[in-house]
Amino acid sequence: MNAWLAALAMTLFPPCCIVCGNRYRSGDFQDLCPACAAQLPFRRHNERHMQVLSPAMTRQLSAVDYYQAQKLRALVAFHYRGVIPQLIRGLKFHQHPEYALPLGQLLGHKAGLDIQADCPGFAQTAQASWLLLPVPLSEQRLAERGYNQAELLGLPLSRRLNVELRTDILFRNRATKRQSETEGISRLMNVSKAFTVNAQVLRQRNVLLLDDVLSSGSTLYSAAQSVLAAGAPQVYCLALASSRRDLARWPPAKN
Ligand SMILES: [Zn+2]
Repeated sequence: MNAWLAALAMTLFPPCCIVCGNRYRSGDFQDLCPACAAQLPFRRHNERHMQVLSPAMTRQLSAVDYYQAQKLRALVAFHYRGVIPQLIRGLKFHQHPEYALPLGQLLGHKAGLDIQADCPGFAQTAQASWLLLPVPLSEQRLAERGYNQAELLGLPLSRRLNVELRTDILFRNRATKRQSETEGISRLMNVSKAFTVNAQVLRQRNVLLLDDVLSSGSTLYSAAQSVLAAGAPQVYCLALASSRRDLARWPPAKN
């Protein structure tokens, strides 16, 4: 569609904001009116990195695992507040898969610049050396929901970052309890060895691992451990939002 027709369509059929429901005529982000977009709780530059596994969980690990866990970082786009919980809950629990498109675009908007700052040469090597792996759901959860929200978030992100999205590499071994139903170290036990990786398809490429919310971090941590064990040289985790307050430095200290 050319620009003139797009402008005409916008005038005749102004889009409806997914947060407030109001119609609007122009905005920077798809399906979000400028007033709601202005409320987005983007993490500031110095708040973007977090240790994947929360400090409280990390302290419960053995010494070897402790140092490895400290080095595993996640890039997080939003604080879990403002309009973000409403959108994520709609996406995950209230059958609004369409929310994934603006949320994935927003994550790409944030992650595109930050990954390139963190991983020099990323833009040049993204297509050949990196793969985007959404954290998979169990078959049971996928059947209940009908879609994997992390995979839907990954579609616009994959286009934005020019990284291939693959769903045939990382798998859940078994159904785990909802992480929101478990506490403390039992969260880690709940997802430990929950994933298998097809190393032949992975072919030692670097991995962007994507999930929607970073809570205790035990799911992303377990998935990252599996991908590293299968031969990925680098794993860089991405999450849309986190309510945790701890922050981490980039790059992680070498020890
Ligand atoms: Zn709005």
